[in-house]
Amino acid sequence: MHVNELATPALVIDADAFDRNLATMASHHPGDRLRPHVKAHKCTALAAAQQAVGHSTFTCATPLEVVGMGRAGVGVDLLLANETVDAGRLRAMAELDVMVTVAVDSAETIRAAADNGIGSCLIDVNVGLPRCGVAPERAGSLADDARAAGLEVRGVMGYEGHLMMVPERGDRLAQVEASMALLRQAHADVGGDIVSAGGTGTFDLHGNTGVNEVQAGSYALMDTHYGQQGLPFEQALFVVGTVISVSDGWAVTDVGLKALGMDHGNPSIVDGDVWFCSDEHLTYAPHTSVSVGDRATVIPGHVDPTMAMHEAAWLVRDDEVIDRWPIDLRGW
Ligand code: PLP
Ligand code: MN
Repeated sequence: MHVNELATPALVIDADAFDRNLATMASHHPGDRLRPHVKAHKCTALAAAQQAVGHSTFTCATPLEVVGMGRAGVGVDLLLANETVDAGRLRAMAELDVMVTVAVDSAETIRAAADNGIGSCLIDVNVGLPRCGVAPERAGSLADDARAAGLEVRGVMGYEGHLMMVPERGDRLAQVEASMALLRQAHADVGGDIVSAGGTGTFDLHGNTGVNEVQAGSYALMDTHYGQQGLPFEQALFVVGTVISVSDGWAVTDVGLKALGMDHGNPSIVDGDVWFCSDEHLTYAPHTSVSVGDRATVIPGHVDPTMAMHEAAWLVRDDEVIDRWPIDLRGW
């Protein structure tokens, strides 16, 4: 099938750009030096492609991502890099035939994990992002509590999400190193083999931080937000639309905000300037003349929520659709 035969809005992955992104990252962080974050794509077929280039440990944000990966048989070591006290979902993860580790940052999350069959945890440490994570100086005693509850403590994680978009690389490096000093301090008290952190924006800043696995996810597909950062990854994700109306000075395509994650602002469009999105419309000023029925190629501002809005992605090479990848890890 030709890409122009897809019903729109269609989530499209450029197979060549995607392959190059995977190769670039695998050359920086081969094997289990990268723990790819599946929340960026929510797709077991895409995760299988990451496994095919050597990564078999994965990061997840929701229990459903862990359960879906486990049931699909992708990955040998799955980390829920997030806190949960949901007994049913903890049990569903514990019943998988794959090693599951959960992040904990409180007595409650330790108790819930231990009571529902989870065997191992990482101590989640606050490294400056006001989200989950225990204060570094309390990490050691929390690890003692986890061991007393019967959990294996495999190490620490600390996500420096507040630093991903620091504009200048030198500033970003200095701030990442300061942030990761907190994680190292916690690791000294906690023990274990794993020091897990990082994302796409900081993927190459961990040479001196002590971090031994990077949790990047966006790098595989990219978005306009990360596209500003001068990273060595290419845009591989597009939402293809159909031009449904043309007026004097603007055109409208059927890629509205219900087909796009909008929290990073408007998307971009190839050969045009985006004016605004509404539910099912994107109004833009085309750079060349367009007609009703033409195709339009939209570049999402934020990859993760965009993926979560679609049932499937189409893998395309040289304008031919070569595969359909279900976005099968949606939900919680
Ligand atoms: N690790 C955690 C815990 C995250 O929440 C995220 C993204 O929000 C990441 C890593 C990195 O993701 P990205 O590759 O999008 O920077
Ligand atoms: Mn994101």
